[in-house]
Formats: sequence, structure tokens, C-alpha cells
Amino acid sequence: MTCDVCHKNEAIIFQPHSGRSLCKDCFFNDVKERVRKEAEKQGILNSRKVLLAVSGGKDSLVLVDAISSFISASRIVAFNIVEGIGGYNRAEQAEKLRKYMETLGVQLVSTSFKSEVGYTLDEMVRSSEVKGMNVSPCTFCGGFRRKLINNAGILYGTDLVATGHNLDDEVQTIMINLIRGDLSRLIRLGDVPIKVSGKFVTRVKPLRKIYEWETTMYAYLKGYSFQEVECPHIVNKPTLRAKVRDLIYSLEEERPGSLLKILEQFDEISQKIRSNASFTELPRCEICGDPTSYGRRICKNCELLIRSGLLSQEYQKYLPMS
Ligand SMILES: [Zn+2]
Ligand SMILES: [Zn+2]
Repeated sequence: MTCDVCHKNEAIIFQPHSGRSLCKDCFFNDVKERVRKEAEKQGILNSRKVLLAVSGGKDSLVLVDAISSFISASRIVAFNIVEGIGGYNRAEQAEKLRKYMETLGVQLVSTSFKSEVGYTLDEMVRSSEVKGMNVSPCTFCGGFRRKLINNAGILYGTDLVATGHNLDDEVQTIMINLIRGDLSRLIRLGDVPIKVSGKFVTRVKPLRKIYEWETTMYAYLKGYSFQEVECPHIVNKPTLRAKVRDLIYSLEEERPGSLLKILEQFDEISQKIRSNASFTELPRCEICGDPTSYGRRICKNCELLIRSGLLSQEYQKYLPMS
């Protein structure tokens, strides 16, 4: 079968949501073009400098490859975080990442939870368990990753910070916030980024319209050697996300293109709501100075550290009642 786009090469990929069969090159071009469109809405094309969070996983490699195909590598800083997870953050993986960024001409900078927070992720999780807290490791990891990515955006003077979240991740997050009824978080997920604090570097997700199977296929066809080891904490993943993931997969299987439709509809709705909403500056955490949610005195990260016994107990007084 020949490719439905170039009508020359042999098609090797069927794209259920578009109903087309594509050759390798046309598939790469299709993904890059869809990333470029999203990046344009997010302001990446006009940005002076953008920070890309790279974990070494397939999504992050596709992110750097796609973005560096339409903006100059000198405007990109790739940022890697070593969380400190036993058996997961391996030195040879970091070396592969460094070499790959070098071939793209992209600057790579690294940091770790240990050096910036004072504790590895494993140490935080262990302390929280000792205190009998019932908090998923992903809660620690996600919160501190966001903090470090934002700090790096400020440090390297980038206008934007981008993460490799794909379409599947994004729709899962939307559904979870819908189920939880978290409207303020929900409308921040729209396609045009909103700035809710002068201390937040605007966060964008250029792969938000690319299916997970597409990033997997892209990485595979490019021959990337990516981090394939699953995070050992994955068994403790929040069950709601796992349930939502199963639900949207069966939906997609029955009606290909459903995820894209959900996201496009969602973007339209969020834009309408936003035009009537006002976004006031978020309050600052009284301990670390980072922005926190309305009505809170401290941020979630500091709260987690206090509850785990990892911050001076004089801060106990800041804990919200629970
Ligand atoms: Zn083709
Ligand atoms: Zn804080």
C-alpha cells in the first residue's frame, strides 16, 4: 500500500484518527506539523528562549526533536532532573541523553531533588511512610518536579517551560479534574497558557495533541534508546488515573479520534469560560515564597515536607487543619 500523503513511498503506519496510511517520513512530518501548530498558539515560535523538561523517556525525546526542527537549538535549554529513585535514575541513561542533546546542538542542564530540596525522592517517600502518611510517591515527585522546572526557567531566563505530556496524559488530567470538580485547575488546562503568578514561568505542553502511541512509534522509528525501565513507584500510582486511562482507551478503540475531539471541545469550552473569568495573582507560600493556591498560607510541597518531618517542626503552625 502506498502512503496517502506523498503517494510515493510504502505506507507503514495506519493512523486510526485520520483514517490515513502513512510512510515513515510523512508520519514524522505530520507529528512535527501538529506540534508546530500547538507551539505557535503557546507562544513558543515567538519566544526568546524555551526550557524543555527532558526525563530521557520517549515523550521528552520526541519533544526536543520536534521543537528543534522549527526553532533554533540556541533558543532551547534541555533540563533534566535526577529524582533519586533507586534503580531508575541510571548514570548510563544520563550519558545517552547528554550525547543525544549534543547531536541536536541543544544545551543540557541537570539538577537533582537531593541538591535542591535536600532529599532524594526515595528519602521523602520513606519519611512519609514512617509518619504514617498515605501519600503517593507521584504526589511528591510531581510537585517538586514542577517547582524545580519553574526555578530552572527563572534561572536560565526562559519565557516558557515545556513538558512532554501527550494527548493521553492531557485527557486523563482533564477527566480527573472534572471528576474532582476542580474548576480552577481545569480551565488552566486550555490550549492558550494563562499566567496566574508573576513567579511562575508559563508552562506549556506542545505534545498535547499527539497520541501516546504516536510518540512511542516516533521514538521507535527514530531509533532512540530511551529510558524504558518503569519507575518502581508505578505500582503506587493513583488508582483514579489508572481507571480513567482504561475508560478513555476503550472509548478511543470504539471511536478512533475520540481523545482528540474531547481535547478540542475542551479547549473551546475553556476559552469561553476564561473570557468571563478574572485571574488574580496567586498568594505566596510563607515558607519558600513559591506561589500557592488561593486561600492557602503555604504550598503543597512545603506541607508535604512538614508532615514527613523533613522541615523544622517550628513550621507545624502553618499546617492547614485537616
Ligand atoms: Zn509519504
Ligand atoms: Zn512552599
